Amino acid sequence: MSLGRVHSMDSFGTVDGPGIRYVVFMQGCQMRCRYCHNRDTWDLREGGELISHEEVLDKILKVRNFLTGGVTVTGGEPLLQAEFVADLFQALKKHGIHTCLDSNGFAKQITPEVKRLLTYTDLVMLDIKHPDEQMHQKLTYVSGEYTRKFAMYLKELNKTTWIRYVVVEGYTVDPIYAAMLAEFVENMGCVEKVEILPYHSLGVHKWDAFKEQYELQSVRPPSNEQLDAIKTEFDQRGISAAY
Ligand code: SF4
Repeated sequence: MSLGRVHSMDSFGTVDGPGIRYVVFMQGCQMRCRYCHNRDTWDLREGGELISHEEVLDKILKVRNFLTGGVTVTGGEPLLQAEFVADLFQALKKHGIHTCLDSNGFAKQITPEVKRLLTYTDLVMLDIKHPDEQMHQKLTYVSGEYTRKFAMYLKELNKTTWIRYVVVEGYTVDPIYAAMLAEFVENMGCVEKVEILPYHSLGVHKWDAFKEQYELQSVRPPSNEQLDAIKTEFDQRGISAAY
């Protein structure tokens, strides 16, 4: 049995992977994205509740008949609690339930627990915050190196992967960056599609609760024309992309 610090759970998720899914939000994240809409998940030691993977499994099995998709574990960052998620996914696979890991790929090492977790993962949704290292640091306050290494490990495993890319004015909206990302994705060879996610500011109130300044206050969501220009960069390389 392993214990995990879980921020919250949603028994009827429709935007985190295919079909209707049970979504488990893990506590803890080491990135500091300027647009983070889950500011309250950052702290790995506090917040949420400590719960065993069996208890989470029981909750999932109770609503199993409604889940046309399966289960997604997201966050925060689930790789920070790889053992717990590996135990949960292993148990879910015994019940024939589809498993999806939504991750920013920030694993300082590909530990045995991370490897085990991926063994029981059917789909990885990998958030690539920025393909350019300097801009990655500007946007998230950390290096993108670990995410790129994690992506190369997914390539090695030939793991079915979706890429998620948030388009935000002043950071990722320039199509030149989409072109860089498209080249990277093409090289991975295991990416089924790219989800282009327009920036939104729905999580601002959470920053207010922490009495912290939300720096993107004046940033507006991208236009359809801007999103189309980004989509074109993927289309041109035969990579399925949608927003
Ligand atoms: S990776 Fe996700 S949870 Fe972490 S800071 Fe970025 S948006 Fe927030």
